[in-house]
Amino acid sequence: MKLLDIFTYVFEELPIGVLSFLGEDYLPKSEVIEIAAAGEGGLYFILNRDNEMARDIIRRKEISFVTYKDGLSLRGTEFINIKGVVKRSDESWDLVKKLNPELSDSYKDEQNQKMVFLFFIHEGEGTIKKKKERAEAFAFGQPKGESYIYEVNNRCVRCMDCVQVCPVDAIKPLGARVSINQNLCVHCSACYKTCAFSAIDRS
Ligand code: SF4
Ligand code: SF4
Repeated sequence: MKLLDIFTYVFEELPIGVLSFLGEDYLPKSEVIEIAAAGEGGLYFILNRDNEMARDIIRRKEISFVTYKDGLSLRGTEFINIKGVVKRSDESWDLVKKLNPELSDSYKDEQNQKMVFLFFIHEGEGTIKKKKERAEAFAFGQPKGESYIYEVNNRCVRCMDCVQVCPVDAIKPLGARVSINQNLCVHCSACYKTCAFSAIDRS
């Protein structure tokens, strides 16, 4: 799945979930939030300024977000989990209202906007599972220079398992093996973890 499709799916189908983080006192805290909008680079959410947890999030920045919807069976369960980094994004109100016009009335002017914090989960990695589909790993917003490089070695038997899990379609068959397009790879490590033949090197 493309990243924008993942974020849009969360916003449309699984918008309410639990945000967890470490408080200033080093104790774990959590808050139920609703995703306010899905952008190209991540997910937006809103918290009241008088919410103590909002201030913890501003200081800590690192969060996890989990949301799910139960189906009739395990295969029917839908979920997403993200371990990521949050920043304040008060300059993005115009964009967020464009992405979610339902917010336009509640946050129509600066005075309304100043009563809350607008947050953006702009970097992270996670897993998404849609109904009746396999879970997929994904990553977003991570600086490429600080990530591992993943390359296919000659143990590859072209089973295509890694192709199935790559969230950005960066792996394609090439001769008797598969090959990773380094320009598309977001370094999520899903292929590396999936390959049963140790045919993906990480360096
Ligand atoms: S999962 Fe491993 S063996 Fe299978 S196609 Fe990918 S690299 Fe090759
Ligand atoms: S690390 Fe592997 S699965 Fe993840 S984006 Fe790169 S090629 Fe795809």
